[in-house]
Amino acid sequence: MSDRLPGFSTLAVHAGAQPDPTTGARATPIYQTTSFVFNDADHAASLFGLQAFGNIYTRIGNPTNAVLEERVAALEGGTAALAVASGHAAQVVVLQQLLQPGDEFIAARKLYGGSINQFTHAFKSFGWNVVWADPDDISSFERAVTPRTKAIFIESIANPAGSITDIEAISTVARKAGVPLIVDNTLASPYLIRPIDHGADIVVHSLTKFLGGHGNSLGGIIVDAGTFDWSMGGKYPMLSEPRPEYHGIRLQETFGNFAFAIACRVLGLRDLGPALSPFNAFMILTGIETLPLRMQKHCDNAKAVAEFLAGHPAVASVSYAGLPNDKYNQLARKYAPKGAGAVFTFSLKGGYDAGVSLVSKLQLFSHLANVGDTRSLVIHPASTTHSQLDDAAKVKSGAGPDVVRLSIGIEDKEDLIADLEQALGA
Ligand SMILES: *Cc1c(COP(=O)(O)O)cnc(C)c1O
Repeated sequence: MSDRLPGFSTLAVHAGAQPDPTTGARATPIYQTTSFVFNDADHAASLFGLQAFGNIYTRIGNPTNAVLEERVAALEGGTAALAVASGHAAQVVVLQQLLQPGDEFIAARKLYGGSINQFTHAFKSFGWNVVWADPDDISSFERAVTPRTKAIFIESIANPAGSITDIEAISTVARKAGVPLIVDNTLASPYLIRPIDHGADIVVHSLTKFLGGHGNSLGGIIVDAGTFDWSMGGKYPMLSEPRPEYHGIRLQETFGNFAFAIACRVLGLRDLGPALSPFNAFMILTGIETLPLRMQKHCDNAKAVAEFLAGHPAVASVSYAGLPNDKYNQLARKYAPKGAGAVFTFSLKGGYDAGVSLVSKLQLFSHLANVGDTRSLVIHPASTTHSQLDDAAKVKSGAGPDVVRLSIGIEDKEDLIADLEQALGA
């Protein structure tokens, strides 16, 4: 073996996987089992006491899921990862380790519509208070910090307009406040942006999108960067205080730079229960093998479609960070030099009605609420994903009434442009 470190595409195919030791199976088998036999009573006791690593029950861990976890941790440059049932489950499990009732976290206002809902409504019932900040105004994050702030949450490439967030600037604010920076890296995937390289402490994904990539399996993942000191002044008791159910161990002390991933597994996943099915882990692993190829094609197609739309008379504006005159182009060049992603918005001169009409005339684009599929997708956020927001909040989050969102697939770009042309012209 050479001592060369494997590159990204090699990791996408191989990280975490070995031929199956008993059968020689080369693809990772689907370990479709709920539970695992112990060697003996001592082995069982050591697994339950966290003195040994191993499989107990699929709610807490599964060998197929473990390959997925190791692979995404390698691609993101983290110390460990935990796969869960969905992107939203990842967000709940992460914040449950960080916040006590009455605590606050700061979140960028430009987020996936479902996250805005989850943070505003569901989390309120847990006593977790979200404070919104503007990712285009770094000082708004500084102003939002209070003694109860426990985390900052942003998207690297933000929904719905594909705007690029200045991760390093916000990580400086987080460091100064003594709180971890959580980055939702769903729209970028580690192929385009690796938030840990820019100061993120925790990365979350909806695996449902570009990582799985084929629109067929829900999943989520949490990546621990191993960078944060959880002992800090007792601010994070889930990590720093003795755990009565594990013989009084302190997770931070015992597990060091992967303590957060362990907390998410042995406290979050164990108690909240959103385990990923091994079948979905298998589907997502298969998707990840082609991530670099797909992501580049997604980005190249998106740029061609954005350029076409920018030159079309029915289009008022295009918001795609890959266009040279876009507000986020500087940030795109810095953070995502291979491409600015494949999710973006444009607005139509004809407003709300024109948006609804366009969506109904498109044939190759599927009208649905998802992103990051091989297929090209379209949605009118104001009447769907962001419909719960009032008009001012819609505009602030980039989902005004005239805005249409695209997720560009990996078809031939000429066919995508022809479909848009007929739908805009007719
Ligand atoms: C889809 C999505 C989520 C939620 O993920 P699910 O897998 O649908 O639960 C979170 N963040 C972003 C950016 C997403 O696109």
